[in-house]
Amino acid sequence: MIFFSSLKRIAATLRGAPSLTRVAAATGKGGRPQNSTGRVPRVSLSRPGKQQLWMRLAANLTFLLAPLALPAQTHFNGGKALDYARQFVAIGPRWPTSQGHLKAEAFLRDQFKHDQVEEDTFTASTPIGPVPMRNFIVRFPGKKNGVIVLATHYETNYPLRTINFVGANDGASTTGLLLAIADQLRGKTLDGYSIWLVFFDGEEAFQTWSRSDSTYGSRHLAARWGRDGTLGKIKAFILADMIGDKDLDIQRESNSTGWLVELVRQAAHKFGYDRYFFQTEEPVEDDHLAFVDRGVPSIDVIDLDYGPNNSYHHTAQDTMDKISAKSLTIDGDVFMETIRLIDLR
Ligand SMILES: [Zn+2]
Repeated sequence: MIFFSSLKRIAATLRGAPSLTRVAAATGKGGRPQNSTGRVPRVSLSRPGKQQLWMRLAANLTFLLAPLALPAQTHFNGGKALDYARQFVAIGPRWPTSQGHLKAEAFLRDQFKHDQVEEDTFTASTPIGPVPMRNFIVRFPGKKNGVIVLATHYETNYPLRTINFVGANDGASTTGLLLAIADQLRGKTLDGYSIWLVFFDGEEAFQTWSRSDSTYGSRHLAARWGRDGTLGKIKAFILADMIGDKDLDIQRESNSTGWLVELVRQAAHKFGYDRYFFQTEEPVEDDHLAFVDRGVPSIDVIDLDYGPNNSYHHTAQDTMDKISAKSLTIDGDVFMETIRLIDLR
C-alpha cells in the first residue's frame, strides 16, 4: 500500500496537486475536495514539450493505478475488542460460584449501564448441586421486525479453578468482541433487524462434558424463549466461541444452518478472509444447539484448534498472548457484514 501511494504522490507531483486531492476525495477521508461539489478541476494536458510528456506519463500512471486506489475498506476495531478482553481477563478466573464470577457480572453490568440490559437469573442443577447463574441480554432495537442474536459465553471452567485458568480465548476474547460490537451499535437507529447481544453463563461442564452437564445458560434461555414465543422472532442466532486465537482457523460446524454458513462465507470473502474460514468441517457441541434443536437458524463460529495439538485449550496456556487484535478484526468485520447480509435477505 505504501508503495502504491508513493507512486501516486510522484504522479501527483508531476501533474500538480489535483490528483492527490482526487484520491483523497475518492477515499472519503484525509482530504478536502477543491470546490463545494467535491469535483476537482482537470489539469490541462495541452502544455507543450517535455513537461507535456511527463504529464501524459503521470496521467497514464495514475490511470493504471486507479483501480488500486479504491477506497480503503473500513475495518472493525479489533484493538478495542482485545482491550476489553484484557480488562475482562484481568478480573482473574470467573468460574460459577467464585468471587471472580461476581466481578465479571459487575464488569458487564457496568459496561452496559446505559443500554437496555436484561439479567436472566436462574438456578442450574449441576453435578456439584444447585448453582446460581446469570445470562446478560443487551438489546439494540432496529427498524425491521425481527431479531439477530450474537452470543458468547463469559464464565470460565469450574474444574479448572485450581490452575488459574483465565480463558483469554475461551470466554474473554468473544466477550471483548461483543463489547466492541456494542460500541458500533450504541446510539444509532439500526435500519435492519434488532440486534441482541447475549452473554451466556454456564457453558462449561462442571464434571465431564455431556448434553446435561454443559451449556446451562443457553439451554435455560432457549427453553424460556421457546415458552414465551421469543424464538419465533429470531432470524439468526450467531455464536462466537474461541475466535480470538492468533492462529485463526474457524471450522465449518456441522450442526449449523446451511444458509447462515454461506452468508458468513460470503462475508469473509468480501474482505479476502477466505483462508480463515471453513477449511475443515466438524460437529461441535456448544451454546447454539439448544437453538438449533428448536429450529432457529443458527451458526457456531468457532475455532476449536488452539495451540500446537490444541494444547492451549482448557489449560493455563489460554492467556492474552495467544489472542490478537488481528483475529478480532477479522471476526468483527465478518460479523458486521453478516448482519448486513441477513438484513438484506
Ligand atoms: Zn471452554
